[in-house]
Amino acid sequence: MSVLVFADSTDGKFKKTSFEVVSYGKKVAEQVASNLVVLTINANDASELYKYGAAKVIAITNDALLTFNAKEYAAVIVAIAQKENATIVVMDSSINGLYVSPMVAVSLDAGYASNTVALPSSTDPFTVKRKAFSNKAFSNTIISSEKKVIALAKNSFGIHENPVAGILENFDVQVAASGVVSEKVERVTGKVTIADADTVVSAGRGMKGPENWGMIEELASVLGAATACSKPVSDLGWRPHGEHVGQTGKPVASNLYIAIGISGAIQHLAGINASKVKVVINSDPEAPFFKAADYGVVGDAFEVIPTLIEKLKAF
Ligand code: FAD
Repeated sequence: MSVLVFADSTDGKFKKTSFEVVSYGKKVAEQVASNLVVLTINANDASELYKYGAAKVIAITNDALLTFNAKEYAAVIVAIAQKENATIVVMDSSINGLYVSPMVAVSLDAGYASNTVALPSSTDPFTVKRKAFSNKAFSNTIISSEKKVIALAKNSFGIHENPVAGILENFDVQVAASGVVSEKVERVTGKVTIADADTVVSAGRGMKGPENWGMIEELASVLGAATACSKPVSDLGWRPHGEHVGQTGKPVASNLYIAIGISGAIQHLAGINASKVKVVINSDPEAPFFKAADYGVVGDAFEVIPTLIEKLKAF
């Protein structure tokens, strides 16, 4: 029996969440007294995962899997889960993870828990804590099936080093043509993607128009952050739709989320609840966002942002 973790990568590089899911899988494997096996697809250096406790890594290198395709990735994960007799499969709750993980669960006839935030509180019955109601509440979910698929929420468990002398198994798979042609569209407006960013600088209608986004991009660049926006901003065409954050947009689970000229509507907050520290800059002291903020600056963004950039550059 084993616990299988899928460690996703982009252009051959592991995402931070991959180190987190491996750290998590290691602990789950200890809890259920099973071996940990980690699967990678087209990763440049699969042995990087030894540092997080991956004693056995199955590395697949296959040109047919260079572009993400949920059906094909799910088929590969299922094949390796069966080969390794995995009773628990763990992956991340990124957009790709949330696309693939239910498919894997259906194929394995497994119980499924997405957006899991902690180690199982009990292994009998197998109980995991998950985010619920747009991250406003938690639920304890019992998975009673023999096989289980868990999608771990980003930044919920953390990255824990646990170096082991790992074994690398290079494995080959036949990838059936799915007939799906997908094009990879990476919308990176700053230097960092929203999903992987530690810091996100997000702006709303308070910025008045697209011509004022230069200062948002400059602030993001100084902080090494990704840029994001509220829904109306992308609806108005001021920013690309890929940057829209919230209930109907991208979820953000960054360490720092800076919201500039965003009122803090419930639909926006639903997408950023998982971010750790929220800083709000708004000229209206009554803006609802201040209630959800860890730090707030009441002020005009057109004065505050240039000052902030200047201070950060001098720092
Ligand atoms: P506004 O509400 O217009 O707020 C602008 C803010 O800027 C104000 O607080 C104002 O005080 C401040 N401001 C103005 N000038 C300045 C200045 N010079 N300096 C500093 N601050 C200033 N919204 C999302 O963002 N994401 C979603 O996923 C989403 N999904 C939705 C789904 C549904 C079904 C519905 C009905 C709505 C959804 N919305 C979503 C829209 C949401 O309800 C709000 O309308 C939207 O978030 C408001 O965007 P905003 O804060 O940029 O604009």
